Amino acid sequence: MNALKVGVLGAGIAGLAAAGRLKARGHEVTVFDKGRGPGGRASSRRRGLFHFDHGAQYFTARQEEFSAAVGGWLTAGVVAPWDGHIVSLVGGVTSPLKSETRRYVGQPQMSGLAKHLARELDVRCGVQVDVLTRVDGLWMPEEGGEILGAFDRLIVAMPPAQAAQLLEADSPLGGVARSVEMRPCWCVMLGLEARLEVPFDGAFCNESALSWISRDNSKPGRPQTEAWVLHASPEWTEEHLHEEREQVIKALTAEFEEVTGVVLPPVSHRDAHRWGLAQPASEEPVQALCDLERGLALACGAYVGGRVEGAYMSGLAAAAGIG
Ligand SMILES: Cc1cc2nc3c(=O)[nH]c(=O)nc-3n(C[C@H](O)[C@H](O)[C@H](O)COP(=O)(O)OP(=O)(O)OC[C@H]3O[C@@H](n4cnc5c(N)ncnc54)[C@H](O)[C@@H]3O)c2cc1C
Repeated sequence: MNALKVGVLGAGIAGLAAAGRLKARGHEVTVFDKGRGPGGRASSRRRGLFHFDHGAQYFTARQEEFSAAVGGWLTAGVVAPWDGHIVSLVGGVTSPLKSETRRYVGQPQMSGLAKHLARELDVRCGVQVDVLTRVDGLWMPEEGGEILGAFDRLIVAMPPAQAAQLLEADSPLGGVARSVEMRPCWCVMLGLEARLEVPFDGAFCNESALSWISRDNSKPGRPQTEAWVLHASPEWTEEHLHEEREQVIKALTAEFEEVTGVVLPPVSHRDAHRWGLAQPASEEPVQALCDLERGLALACGAYVGGRVEGAYMSGLAAAAGIG
């Protein structure tokens, strides 16, 4: 096939996987993202010596092709296994997980993986595509009335609700994007002045406003400063979606003490982030993400169960579908 001009909207793991594969096949690829850097929901924050992965916490590798990619990233030093002690937690009582799995994290933060995938790509950050038109068989994404380019093929690699805003409601892929429901997640980040004395590094919380808590400094390559990430359950987040950040921090910090049964050491950094579109409501994979006739494909972890691995594989599938 002749070299094509391909636009990729979204520099999360899905968009970057798609762009990398298409570039390797000789196509001319441009990636646009509204964020300050690549990574999307697999990104991180630094506040002094406190490092937080506030979106994806870790990832697993189940499929052969993804495992092979992880092998390459391990060799390149951009991911590492996380051997943190992970438990299930109910009312201050811990129990082992039913099954164990190998967990990986980006280096030196989760965002390290996206930075690695983006390193040889033309990624234009700080660009929010707000209109998408098709003229004479070419896709033309726009931002604020400015046309960003004309592309033979286009991959829309963002959460379905955001893709739906750009695609016509009556188009086949517009309908697919609209059919996927996403749930939100409030995340609280706490920097503590001393170690929190609990016998685990991460816990899936049950019967709580929290669904997950994690000692991020137990991940490899992070500073040893005690940094905890708390994720609220989708139910709690939906109930408190529009609450003030301060209120959310207060409520979830109190719940953190409640579920761990431990009084926190002094907190020297606290912040919260609301992921409006965190995870798909269903893990059921969605089919038919390519419109061959119009040279358009959708990619996102949300179409295949909502994980980093799914995002990567969905990016490769989109690349195979159109390129
Ligand atoms: C709180 C939370 C915890 C999670 N925990 C885990 C976990 O432990 N393990 C795991 O495997 N997965 C986890 N996930 C899921 C994982 O993060 C995602 O499945 C994966 O990162 C999705 O990648 P993506 O490329 O599909 O989408 P995204 O990462 O959402 O990337 C989409 C990109 O599109 C950009 N974008 C959106 N609209 C526009 C626009 N109009 N113009 C330009 N750019 C746009 C966004 O800025 C974003 O960078 C978690 C997610 C969240 C939110």
